[in-house]
Amino acid sequence: MASLSLRHIYKVYSGGVRAVSDFNLEIDDKEFIVFVGPSGCGKSTTLRMIAGLEDISSGELYIEDRLVNDVEPKDRDIAMVFQNYALYPHMTVYDNMAFGLRLRHVPAKVIDEKVQEAASILGIQHLLSRRPKALSGGQRQRVALGRAIVREPKVFLLDEPLSNLDAKLRVQMRTEITKIHHRLATTFIYVTHDQTEAMTMGTRIVVMKDGIVQQVDTPTTLYDNPANLFVACFLGSPQMNIFKAKLVEENGNLYALIGETNKVMIPKSRALRIRDKSIIGSDVLLGIRPEDVRYEQALIDAHPESVIEATVDVIENLGNETILYLNVEGKDDYTIARVNARYSFEQGDKVKMYLATEHAHLFDATTELTLMGVPDYNLIPAQAVAVENTLAVMFGDVCIKLPEEILNRITDKSVINNKVVLGLPPEALKAEGGEGDVCFEGVAEFFDNYPRFKAVYLAVPGLVNNLIVSRPLDYEFNGGETMKVYLDPTKIQLFNMEGERIIADRPVTGNTTTGTMLNNNGVYNYKFVGKTGTKNKLAVENQTGLKTAETDAPMYILPRGLSIDKDAIAKSPKMVLSGVIKHLDEYNRDAIVTAEIAGFDEDMTVIIRKFAGYNTGDKIKMVVDPQAIVIGKYETFAQAVKNSDAQAEGEVRYKELLQARENEKALENAAAGKKEQAAVNEAAEVEEAPAKKPAAKKPAAKKPAAKKAPAAKKPAAKKAPAVKKPAAKKK
Ligand code: ADP
Repeated sequence: MASLSLRHIYKVYSGGVRAVSDFNLEIDDKEFIVFVGPSGCGKSTTLRMIAGLEDISSGELYIEDRLVNDVEPKDRDIAMVFQNYALYPHMTVYDNMAFGLRLRHVPAKVIDEKVQEAASILGIQHLLSRRPKALSGGQRQRVALGRAIVREPKVFLLDEPLSNLDAKLRVQMRTEITKIHHRLATTFIYVTHDQTEAMTMGTRIVVMKDGIVQQVDTPTTLYDNPANLFVACFLGSPQMNIFKAKLVEENGNLYALIGETNKVMIPKSRALRIRDKSIIGSDVLLGIRPEDVRYEQALIDAHPESVIEATVDVIENLGNETILYLNVEGKDDYTIARVNARYSFEQGDKVKMYLATEHAHLFDATTELTLMGVPDYNLIPAQAVAVENTLAVMFGDVCIKLPEEILNRITDKSVINNKVVLGLPPEALKAEGGEGDVCFEGVAEFFDNYPRFKAVYLAVPGLVNNLIVSRPLDYEFNGGETMKVYLDPTKIQLFNMEGERIIADRPVTGNTTTGTMLNNNGVYNYKFVGKTGTKNKLAVENQTGLKTAETDAPMYILPRGLSIDKDAIAKSPKMVLSGVIKHLDEYNRDAIVTAEIAGFDEDMTVIIRKFAGYNTGDKIKMVVDPQAIVIGKYETFAQAVKNSDAQAEGEVRYKELLQARENEKALENAAAGKKEQAAVNEAAEVEEAPAKKPAAKKPAAKKPAAKKAPAAKKPAAKKAPAVKKPAAKKK
């Protein structure tokens, strides 16, 4: 019995094959975890790292709170069952099972008890005196399991244990392994490429692709809420139908247009779950599982708005059900339907099918990520304004003033007094506040249950999309209640308008150094020395700032000005900096990297797009874009945001935003009032009597008591923009 913790685990084989990247997983005691994914995705490598049969390139592995990276396999208290059984051919079943215990000098009597007990669990008592070659495949696999069971390990690791068995035996052994798991009540980690095994056996499944975890969840959640197209298509057989579609809104309803002729409605219940309403009007991928392509006439009659036309091409009658392969205009491959076997079809039949769009999945056509469910961040269009000597991030009625600690981690000054996208992790929106937390309110509209939390969708004034907050599973959802959420401002992320994360994990301070420009017959070399005395140089041509730099000129390199692109490195070999990665923070394909580079005062922070193939501790080569070199004085983000020009401009922005919000609210209220009046009028019409009072009608917009931002109680636009920028202090 044991819990496991895999933290930022990487595996890079010699030769540079990156088999596993940034694997993170907390495994509870007694869980049955399945790693699933296509061949070569890194499942076995991960399992073998847990077993200790492969070194971990970077990251930490804990079994029961004990760091085991360097612990020998035999001392990890695990047992592993392999695909090829790995039995000793010259030993009997009994001896095979007893072997490990004998090595550990367990008394013969105890060994005998354990072997007999395991044999009875597995139903192989009658085979104990046989040799492996006299056993069937299924029996051999039972012996292999028995050998693991007698050791009473804390964790069972099973690597494709059933793939050498025939189909029928596989199904049988599947249930037996599940039973053994219940009986032993121990942690199991099971590797398979077979989605049915994963779905039927796992308490939680880890879906992997190309060494990267795609999603971790219970079988049902993975099936119902796949995080991306890969997971959607990997689980389920036949696999999900994917339609290229365009989302449009008509008369307040959402439709998906498929090809030229087909149009289906996405019901409200489903449309509400779309995270980002701005996707409406764009191309998306619409996923419908084969069991949701329905033929029943009653359903077609009941949902004429979600019916498509199709032509039957191939019919597979399986006895209990029929699989139809349909041609649908606007879809290149077959649309697959699972229908009742009592219907009969012929090739070429023109049929109408109801797409049960209340179970529809929507994916971004480019990123293939789901457009529904719980994102890593709630992404909120916001304004970043320089006020009160800091940066305030504003949206709706909410104003988040960033603490100093964050200012020092921001990598992009262009966001000051500009648009940004605010990223709020659902788990950072807490039910109770602490000191320095920002509080705001929303109305709980609906929720989804996930294995470890409840996702509650809030309507927040001034926000188009629902804000998703995570709450404990026992959170009592009533629907329509006002919820206060508290945010620790250090938990936010900001994205610039290019969609790049701009808050690094660590302060961005190390990109500075001091050097001297040398002119060697027109070839300019900037030689620089870091605080610790390490030296380096860059050959810079046509870089005016550098050419005129004098002895002891300070230099700063913008975090975004480096690239690992091989061609760019080859093109400008003298603009290359080499170093060692100290810290890595990857997100999607981008990374914020801290690296130790000779000649710089401290570890440098760089932001690299399309980052792949590196671990902490690796050497890295990066080419510097000459535009990213700042010679002379450099302002940090914290200095730039406090600069009096920025603050003056921010002050004006701040007031404009507050005013705009007030106007918006007035409009909202007016619209709500109109609606209410219209409802009163209608009621009056029905009653044929003049309405006296707008009696307790629907309180139209169920807005929470609009919390006033600490509005414009500030002195009018402090300094006029006349004040010149004071020469930025050198750090
Ligand atoms: P899976 O178990 O999902 O089929 P593996 O973990 O066996 O995948 O392999 C993941 C990747 O690592 C594959 O690209 C594979 O070729 C590579 N790989 C596995 N073992 C080694 C090895 N010993 N040396 C180099 N590459 C390896």
